[in-house]
Amino acid sequence: MSKLLEGARSRLEALAAQPGERTFDNTMHVLDAMTEPLDYAMGVVRHLESVATYPELRAAFNAAQPEVSAFYTGIPLHAESWKGIKTFAATSEAAGLNGARRRFLHKTMDTFRRHGADLDPAGKARLEAIDVELTQITTKFGENVLDATNQFELLVTNESRLAGLPPTAVVSARESAQRKGKEGWRFTLQAPDYFAVMTYLDDPGIRRQLYDAFSVRATTGEYDNRKILPRIIELRREKARLLGFADFADLVLEDRMAHTGARALSFLADLKEKTVRRFREENLELLEFRRSVEGPAAPELEPWDVAYYAEKQRAALYDFDEEALRPYFRLEKVTEGLFDLVNRLYGIRVTEEPGTPVWDPAVRYYNMRDEEGVYIGGFYADWYPRENKRGGAWMDSLITGGPAAGTFRPHLGLICGNLTPPAGGKPALLTHREVETIFHEFGHLLHHMLSRVEIRSMAGTNVAWDFVELPSQIMENWCWERQALDLFARHWETGEPIPEDLFQKMKRARTFRAANTQMRQLGFGFVDLLVHVKYDPARDGDPVAYARGILQEFSPAPLPEAHAMLAAFTHLFSSPVGYGAGYYSYKWAEVLDADAFTRFREGGIFSRDVGQAFRANILSKGDSEDPAELYRAFMGREPDPRALLIRSGLA
Ligand SMILES: [Zn+2]
Repeated sequence: MSKLLEGARSRLEALAAQPGERTFDNTMHVLDAMTEPLDYAMGVVRHLESVATYPELRAAFNAAQPEVSAFYTGIPLHAESWKGIKTFAATSEAAGLNGARRRFLHKTMDTFRRHGADLDPAGKARLEAIDVELTQITTKFGENVLDATNQFELLVTNESRLAGLPPTAVVSARESAQRKGKEGWRFTLQAPDYFAVMTYLDDPGIRRQLYDAFSVRATTGEYDNRKILPRIIELRREKARLLGFADFADLVLEDRMAHTGARALSFLADLKEKTVRRFREENLELLEFRRSVEGPAAPELEPWDVAYYAEKQRAALYDFDEEALRPYFRLEKVTEGLFDLVNRLYGIRVTEEPGTPVWDPAVRYYNMRDEEGVYIGGFYADWYPRENKRGGAWMDSLITGGPAAGTFRPHLGLICGNLTPPAGGKPALLTHREVETIFHEFGHLLHHMLSRVEIRSMAGTNVAWDFVELPSQIMENWCWERQALDLFARHWETGEPIPEDLFQKMKRARTFRAANTQMRQLGFGFVDLLVHVKYDPARDGDPVAYARGILQEFSPAPLPEAHAMLAAFTHLFSSPVGYGAGYYSYKWAEVLDADAFTRFREGGIFSRDVGQAFRANILSKGDSEDPAELYRAFMGREPDPRALLIRSGLA
């Protein structure tokens, strides 16, 4: 690691000391390539820490991180390099730049300024100290959530208390207990366990136990994030003010599509206004449903009741059981169908390469080739939960390739998830939501693998955060199209496609409680922006309680006093910036993806023409042009939120 840092340092010095006239090649290109070996090494270690962690690796990673992070932060503060870039910017070559090179120069200068290039020495020193501390405490924040999650288990020894739970979940809880050498059925706070219990388990006592444990994660003992949170928020605000911004949101959003916190807040407020009436109706309907079943004296819904009764209401209204779809979604078939789909749209071919070394026996490795056989790159897929792996689903880029010196350098990437694993002698049978997750992460992977951007730091998914979810979320649309489903949704035993009536029920049920789903996302978006824009520790006290106050408005049931979702909100707080002040981007991107998919629907969902247009204007372009312009180039107009409201049954 110190060797790689040394290499990057000497390239930085060489950039600063560059003799003779400044050119794009001896200044901007050197800057773009400067940290590549270091980025690669840190990327690999960070990745292994995410999927195959052990105490020594975590310790080594944490030990290296502050120095590496200090180096990155120091680049824009390197006065001689900044002078060199400004000197280049004043040349006639710079004035004549166009396209990606011109954008790279301008974005670099904005980025340097946003990172303190124009601050005085005292300001620079303070900024560096803030960033180092933020890196350490946000890393700790994420570890606390993982450790607090793993610390919890609920053992049920009386089988009758499992009533309502689908057989898949019962078998998997049984096997989970056996793996730990314990009797009975074991439930953790990992997503498949948690959501199965909250949705199906009849016993409200168990649902409540799991809900309470989940909603207070990382708030006690050695994993208490409430001690860390105010400091993260305070440091982010101090940093923004130091750099001349009103708050952290304005700092973060300057180079995104939304540009300011105020614009992002008004975007959310507009959607909230269009959603809230239906949200209230849905919640009344759910209470009425409960009372129609249990009698007029049945109590109001508690938070651990909502998903459970909603599932019953859905079953009654639509006669549709999500679990009935599981046999049709065998993981291997789903990925085969996905590869078939992208072959039709983009002409690319994906083939598995057995025998490639991997970090866990469950991991698969694939190669991707163009229609002409040109090698695009490789990727790993790691789909099942493990104790040494973090939660959630994600894509990561290990090598960012692209056009270089007249040739093409292949990409390397990976996709990870925590999906239902094989159990009880059956293959991995997924929920529809899990199928969407695979498509989603594969969309990010395409954005990475199909990138044709010459400038590394503007390639692939290195785009504005409120644009980066367009390629991923648009993929989910195919999971709702009959023709697309028929490529892969086959009963694992009989090979039958999804019966038409089941498919129609699934479609009808899609908008069920859509206002609740939307309000939940809007709530997280508001919490994120308000914590970073309006929250004042002196006036508002505990940020966890402050967030609970906001979330209450977006919650279908009263949140318990101890509810501490913010303490486990790793999206916002497990890295120095992360999704901080950017959670709204999910909804922003949904507006884009729903709108953009209308072009596929009109041109045909397997249309190679529309596919190639999407690839040419979006997937291959990275950040080489303003995302708003890329979007206009594909659609021929500005984004329109109407398609999202229609898709959600709200318009
Ligand atoms: Zn995503």
